[in-house]
Amino acid sequence: MTVEEVKKAIRNVPDFPIKGIQFKDITTALARHDCLCWMKDEIVRRYKDLGITQVVGIESRGFILAPAVAMEIGAGFVPIRKPNKLPGETLKVLYDKEYGKDTIEIHKDALTPEDVVLIHDDILATGGSMYAAVELVRKAGVKKIYTNCLIELEGLNGKQFLADRGVEIECLFGIEVEE
Ligand code: AMP
Repeated sequence: MTVEEVKKAIRNVPDFPIKGIQFKDITTALARHDCLCWMKDEIVRRYKDLGITQVVGIESRGFILAPAVAMEIGAGFVPIRKPNKLPGETLKVLYDKEYGKDTIEIHKDALTPEDVVLIHDDILATGGSMYAAVELVRKAGVKKIYTNCLIELEGLNGKQFLADRGVEIECLFGIEVEE
């Protein structure tokens, strides 16, 4: 399995969910056992020796691989969810999206100051969602935070947006927005 093969397995859907967006659909790669294993194994390889205790997945597509990775690297899984989904007491972060604002939440008691956290999502676009997730985990007060996405959408400056805010991110590979 090569990174090029996995890239080819990701489907581009023009004008979804709204006109002008080139939607990168990972379901076509997830449906292939070889691609699915490659993506999981590649994340595990990069993060297995860093003492990570919790893998935090961002709803919804960050939930697909985060638990599989957590099980292999000996960590737990913690969800970051959309508003009013988590039943316990939560910490919240309000952030700007392309159209309007959004809130994300995490359970207040899900992380401890001893935790080393990997935050995972499927795609890095502008970086807004990942930065909001980092702020939320920072609020929880953990020891260290790593961040990872499967795909960087090149040309949207998500990496730079995060770097400007002191966050370094690793993506498995990049795809041109128009590709
Ligand atoms: P952003 O906050 O701009 O970095 O957007 C990242 C989030 O939006 C991720 O959770 C992605 O799943 C989703 N997303 C943004 N742009 C795309 C796209 N072109 N194709 C698929 N998902 C996207």
